Amino acid sequence: MIINTLNKNQEMGLIKEGKIINKNPAKISEIVSEHKIDTIAELDAKLKKSQEAFLEWRKLPAPTRAQYLTKANVIFTKRKEELAQTLHRENGKPLEEARGEIQEIIDVFEFFAGEGRRLYGMTGQSEMPNKTIMTIKQPIGPGVFITAWNFPAAVPAWKAAPALICGNTFILKPSELAPLSGKLFVDILNEAGLPEGVAQYAFGAGDVGEYLAKHEITKIVSVTGSVEVGRHVAEIAARGFKKCALELGGKNSTIVLRDADLDLVEDGVLWGAYGTGGQRCTSTSRLIIEKSISNEVISRLEKRSKALYDTASNKCADNYAPIINKKQLEKIHGMVEEAIKEGAELVCGGKILDDGSKSGYYYAPTILKAKHGMKITLNEVFGPVLSVIELDEKDKESFLAKAMIIANEVDYGLSNSIFTKDINLGMQAVHEFESGLVYLNAPTIGAECGGASQFGGWKNTGNGSRESGVAALETYTQYKTIAIDYSGKLQRAQIDIE
Ligand code: NAD
Repeated sequence: MIINTLNKNQEMGLIKEGKIINKNPAKISEIVSEHKIDTIAELDAKLKKSQEAFLEWRKLPAPTRAQYLTKANVIFTKRKEELAQTLHRENGKPLEEARGEIQEIIDVFEFFAGEGRRLYGMTGQSEMPNKTIMTIKQPIGPGVFITAWNFPAAVPAWKAAPALICGNTFILKPSELAPLSGKLFVDILNEAGLPEGVAQYAFGAGDVGEYLAKHEITKIVSVTGSVEVGRHVAEIAARGFKKCALELGGKNSTIVLRDADLDLVEDGVLWGAYGTGGQRCTSTSRLIIEKSISNEVISRLEKRSKALYDTASNKCADNYAPIINKKQLEKIHGMVEEAIKEGAELVCGGKILDDGSKSGYYYAPTILKAKHGMKITLNEVFGPVLSVIELDEKDKESFLAKAMIIANEVDYGLSNSIFTKDINLGMQAVHEFESGLVYLNAPTIGAECGGASQFGGWKNTGNGSRESGVAALETYTQYKTIAIDYSGKLQRAQIDIE
């Protein structure tokens, strides 16, 4: 039996006869790959395999598990260019960015392989003599990873590396909009010799993800996607008391003070707003700026953004990404039109450059002058649209106070940034931003991997879990406290205290 995969995908020609048709959004005539959607029987078999594999995989010492990650990393490194080319074709991301994304796999695997020799626990002081107390971290069980299309290679790696090093197994359910990079990622893990069933994938849309998340075998669910999907899966997970990690949408701001280095602001905001065609959870969506410098910054951004797509030759610059599909293209355009109706002023862009009839799906890099409170300033666009909010205040301090209220008055809390040379005000902002990621004199996108760099958001962006850094180990482990009494007699806690 084939799961009744979502009708909207069938309508878009993405899913036909039980198969996902993976098209290049920059050139929709090109079919990048096809993937058979898993049936319920196939999903059940994969879940069972995951459970069986877990019973053995969890017993291996973590440094031994690390060796598999290291072996896989040799293959990722050797095949980096080929994997980047595939990623570039399946989600349209510029090649330079695709190479960076494969490098993220390599970095995150390198970091978590090292964790195999740490995975620290705790030792404490017993209130009794001749007794030791310690707490260790142990794996939880089979995990299911439900991922978005915009980072189809790195995001699975952010989940898989800590899950594996901690001794869990997993099934990846990649986005139906870009499933190939996730498949290749899992294939390489298996090529590196992982025992059968430790790393698997399953194809399909949301209903396949939901089936896997609900299943009693699944003990961890990690989702990267929209708030709507995250909330739904979290409710499912809560019913089964499953560990649940959520990395969801964003509505990110950059604040610019009058003393900022405007060359840096120009480069940073351009990259933050239009990198990956604005389709990053961390994309810069709002620019909150002092009125005295706003025209200068807007005209610089307008000039640079226009160079990203040449309408005359119908060619985009090498560093400009298409929109993933027609539905999203229309959604972006609808949000811009609604903003204009609400009173926003269109500075540039605001139009569909290609609806697929020429080659792929392209939206013009757009700048709107908007007022805080308009829908465009509160909701995630997930496209190349920058809303500029100008504030006219007498000094930097009063500007920052107002800007900070605007930056924080949204339901999301992923990434914010501030450009200023005033270290006091810069650090004040760093402390006051309500988001999991904050940048001083850098754009909202481009998080690093490993160690102290914990990726994740506040408020509706997530549920407190973190990825890519050491805190990711929390998602994939549970604590066990062990009391060892070597006194040779019964010592009762809180009672037989000497
Ligand atoms: P989406 O929520 O539409 O889909 C994400 C995944 O959820 C897909 O694999 C999809 O098949 C699956 N899904 C859909 N319905 C489901 C259901 N009922 N049960 C289980 N699974 C279901 O998101 P998208 O369009 O792929 O990605 C864009 C969104 O992802 C944006 O909101 C973006 O901000 C967010 N995102 C967040 C991060 C982060 O780390 N915070 C990173 C990348 C993307």
